[in-house]
Amino acid sequence: MIEVVAFDGDDTLWHHERIFTDISARFRELLKHHVDGNILDEVLLATERSNLKFFGYGVKGFGLSLIETALDVCDGEITGAEVATMLDWIKEMLGDPVELLPGVEETVEALRTTHRLGIVTKGDLFDQEGKIARSGLGERFDHVAIVSEKDETTYLRVFADWGVSPERVLMVGNSVRSDIEPVLAIGGQAVHVPYDITWQHEVVDAPQSDFPVFDDVRRVLGHVERLGRS
Ligand SMILES: [Mg+2]
Repeated sequence: MIEVVAFDGDDTLWHHERIFTDISARFRELLKHHVDGNILDEVLLATERSNLKFFGYGVKGFGLSLIETALDVCDGEITGAEVATMLDWIKEMLGDPVELLPGVEETVEALRTTHRLGIVTKGDLFDQEGKIARSGLGERFDHVAIVSEKDETTYLRVFADWGVSPERVLMVGNSVRSDIEPVLAIGGQAVHVPYDITWQHEVVDAPQSDFPVFDDVRRVLGHVERLGRS
C-alpha cells in the first residue's frame, strides 16, 4: 500500500539535461581552436566530478567547472571575453524556462486525488526553488525536499520528515543511481522513467536491483493502482 508518491524533479517532472547538452556544445565551439571536443568533454566531466565535494550539484557549480576546465585545457590562456561568455551561459541556464515532460501534469493531477505527493530534488537551493515555482506544480505537492545528495541517509531523513515509512513510498525518477537504488535499499519502492539523455555521472552500468522501467510517466498511475490492490 503506497501512501506517498515522490518524484525527482530534473528530467523526471521537467526538462533539464538538454540545456547542459546545448551549453556543452557551445563550449566545444568556443574552445575548438585550443582543444579537441572529445578531450574537452572528458576534462569537463572529470572537473565536475572532482568539484562536487566543493560546489555540490547544480548550475553554479557547473559554471565554475566550465571556467576551470577552460583554464586547464588552455594553460590559463583564456580571455576575459571568453569568461564573460561562460558567465552569460550560466545566467541563461538559471533562467531557462521550465518545460514539463509529457504526461506529467495529468499524472500529478490524477495521483493527488488519492495520494500525498512529494518532490525530492538535488541542486542549488535558489535554482531548484525557482524551478518548482516556475513549473506551476508546487501547490499540487504536499512535500518538497531540496537536498544536496540523494543517498540512503537523505531519503530516510526526508521520509521521516514527511511522516511516512519508506515501505509506503513509491519514488519515480530518471536516475537509477540517485532516485531508484537508494530508495530500494531502505525498503521503499521505485520506478525508473528514463530520460533520453543521462549525465555521465549518473550512469549506472549494472543496476543492483530489479525495478519497473516505464517509457512514459503516465504508466505510474496503473502501477500505483496495482500496488494498492496487492
Ligand atoms: Mg533527475
